[in-house]
Amino acid sequence: MNGRRKFVNAGATGIATALLGGCAAAAREPEAAQKTVFPVPRTVVPVQGSAELFPVRRIYCIGRNYAAHAREMGSDPTREPPFFFQKPTDAIQYVPAGTVADHPYPSLTKNYHYEAELVAVLGAGGRDIPVDKALDLVWGYAVGLDMTRRDLQRGMGDQKKPWEIGKSFDRSAPIGPVHRVASTGHFKEGAIWLKVNGATKQSADLRQMIWSVAEQISNLSAAFELMPGDIIYSGTPENVGPVVKGDVIEMHIDGLPNLSIKIT
Ligand code: MN
Repeated sequence: MNGRRKFVNAGATGIATALLGGCAAAAREPEAAQKTVFPVPRTVVPVQGSAELFPVRRIYCIGRNYAAHAREMGSDPTREPPFFFQKPTDAIQYVPAGTVADHPYPSLTKNYHYEAELVAVLGAGGRDIPVDKALDLVWGYAVGLDMTRRDLQRGMGDQKKPWEIGKSFDRSAPIGPVHRVASTGHFKEGAIWLKVNGATKQSADLRQMIWSVAEQISNLSAAFELMPGDIIYSGTPENVGPVVKGDVIEMHIDGLPNLSIKIT
């Protein structure tokens, strides 16, 4: 109970973590009643309209999943199979609906980019999931931002080194509340847009995804065993771009509340 209260307070400042004496942690510990030497927060995201918290296990992200965005990143969308990267679970920054969360401009970059994305969250897992069964794994959806230190991402890519410093840093995954698929249905089409200081920057439709959420789940499950709590950032449309301190980002997907952050 106290853990939850701590979380709610922390949520206002933007970190969606809670100290839960949860079963997932216990399952990884020896059966004897041993305690860890200190508590480590688990990442959770509140479920809209309930007191429930969705526990985040892994964050997967697909790259270049809208053709016009793939082209603006310098690749040919017609010949590229899907590819994925991960962010660490504690990169989540929970942003309650109807609030504008402070989001610190990160270190090291001079070209900090937004990427507006639909996030699918999984309530079940498996391996080698066929596309026509894949949506059965989806528990809900959220809006999310795949924040990117573009200069570092590009620099590492140019050197054929891992992207992590550009993609997988602290607070690089702002997310809104989770909405149960039972109440929203699946998101196969609908407007997705992002504004900076009220000016539209990204504007597209979810149906323009190259690989649908179902296809992403199927592809991921061939490479990794998916588990409940895994979440998937499903890619961003074209016209990604930079923000600076003081900017306010607002993003929207039809059927979900908007997500807003202020770069501080
Ligand atoms: Mn992205």
